[in-house]
Amino acid sequence: MKNYTLDDMSSFFRSIGEKDYRGRQIFNWLYEKNAGSFHEMTDFSKELRGLLDENFSVDALHCVERSVSSVDQTEKYLFKTHDGHYIESVLIRNEGSDEARLTICLSTQVGCAMGCGFCETARLGFIRNLEAAEILDQICLVRRISGQRNNNVVFMGMGEPFLNYDNVLKSADIMNYTFGFHISVRKITISTCGIRDAIERFIDEGRPYNLAISLNDTLSEKRRRIMPVEGRYPFAEIVRLLNDKFPASRNRLTIVYVMREDNISSEDARRLKKMFKYNRIKLNLISLNEGSHGYGRPSDEEAARFVKELEIMNVPITFRKSLGRDISGACGQLSGKRYAEEVIHSW
Ligand code: SF4
Repeated sequence: MKNYTLDDMSSFFRSIGEKDYRGRQIFNWLYEKNAGSFHEMTDFSKELRGLLDENFSVDALHCVERSVSSVDQTEKYLFKTHDGHYIESVLIRNEGSDEARLTICLSTQVGCAMGCGFCETARLGFIRNLEAAEILDQICLVRRISGQRNNNVVFMGMGEPFLNYDNVLKSADIMNYTFGFHISVRKITISTCGIRDAIERFIDEGRPYNLAISLNDTLSEKRRRIMPVEGRYPFAEIVRLLNDKFPASRNRLTIVYVMREDNISSEDARRLKKMFKYNRIKLNLISLNEGSHGYGRPSDEEAARFVKELEIMNVPITFRKSLGRDISGACGQLSGKRYAEEVIHSW
């Protein structure tokens, strides 16, 4: 039932001779009250509850595993879909922020076709897009199981959100509805590896959500080796699009740059300086996590030198030293929840 927008829901109730307001009522049950079954919806008649139960299901996912980090209480959830696939979500507590922030990092696809060189999900290949209900249910189930309400959402778990554009934007809209989760547009971030056409569509449609785009190298040839998307959508074209059209007054834009041993030269710093109109973005710098990807993590001294060079050139950056973690998250354009955590921390 969570594939229905509020309009869809109201039309459905009209079609069975019920009043429009039933749509708002059921949104309230599904999202605000996070009901697990139609039988909990006690302001609906018994007959109506029976009819809904016969024709729809409340939950689209089933939680099969939950692990909690003993270091920082980050929680990882493994969900099973109705057709037997597995996806992950991560509930992250933000540190170092005055406001207590609880963020859910959402998956948008089973597997992913983009083949990024440092990514666990890439090894699965693409299996299928998640429906809006499966995206929204990650929030419903994490809230129900953890007993906590997130106030941030980042689309940067498994999959490339902009290759599942309609379902991702539909679920973001439902999260934002007053009668849905009522999460502010400023607290919803969509992260992409750089699907240029979808970024343009997002801008042209006036979508109000934050955007994060992974860059990770300043030279096209080198970027292509770690992010094959560069072959189809060169980052230079995305930069032109952003500099021409990005509505900085409406949306927040973060460019993510994962520092490796081989992408933090002084020339890289100068190329980054030239790339953007820097009053319009934030450059989020993260040191690569150790992993089985075969890329070298820079030493703390090398990373600090690169950060300093950018600061001297007045490039607006955010950078935090890496945080020790004892469970790994799903994905993101580098290594899971740390990426999500850094991006949401950057504004
Ligand atoms: S980093 Fe993201 S876009 Fe790249 S392969 Fe992994 S899931 Fe896909």
